[in-house]
Amino acid sequence: MPLKGKPAGTWNRKRKRCKHAAIVLGDGVLAGCASRDAGPADVHVCLDRFLKDDFPDGGEQVVYHITNFRAPRSPSTFVALVDALVLALDGGKTVQVFCMGGHGRTGLVLAAVLSRFGYDDPIKFLRGSYCEKAVETQEQVDFLVANYGVPPAEPRYKSIKFSRSRKSESKLLVDGPWWRGSEDDWGGGKW
Ligand SMILES: [Zn+2]
Repeated sequence: MPLKGKPAGTWNRKRKRCKHAAIVLGDGVLAGCASRDAGPADVHVCLDRFLKDDFPDGGEQVVYHITNFRAPRSPSTFVALVDALVLALDGGKTVQVFCMGGHGRTGLVLAAVLSRFGYDDPIKFLRGSYCEKAVETQEQVDFLVANYGVPPAEPRYKSIKFSRSRKSESKLLVDGPWWRGSEDDWGGGKW
């Protein structure tokens, strides 16, 4: 069940785009991309609230905001999100995750989902089969190690200076037709 629509590996005028292979998991398909490459899928997950206008038409739409280069503030809501995605994939759905570039935050989600599907070293797998840029910062690696027990990996960026304090970070925002509320209310998806 390949993704339809424009492929993520096409050139534009300004720069070369990565090719991000979709991953077949059981009857489902897990894909990740830059927001500009988002195409049709059954479930779309946008990891940046500033990119929520980039949803393609159709399918379920979920916004789960993670600040760029960072890990989720709330492990429990993240786990609930990943659990919902696992259910969707088990149900044969195509799930597409996107952020600005499809690497750090998207890589984090993809690695967590792969872990749930029994992949022993999801970061290594992603860097070999999805994109070498997957999972960008130490904080993201540490989050995966702590919450999913994945083997540690070198961060892509060794030193990232965060420009904003965590206090100014927005709360989790989920805009799907099936869910509204604050971060603390997250109860998983309906799939
Ligand atoms: Zn890439």
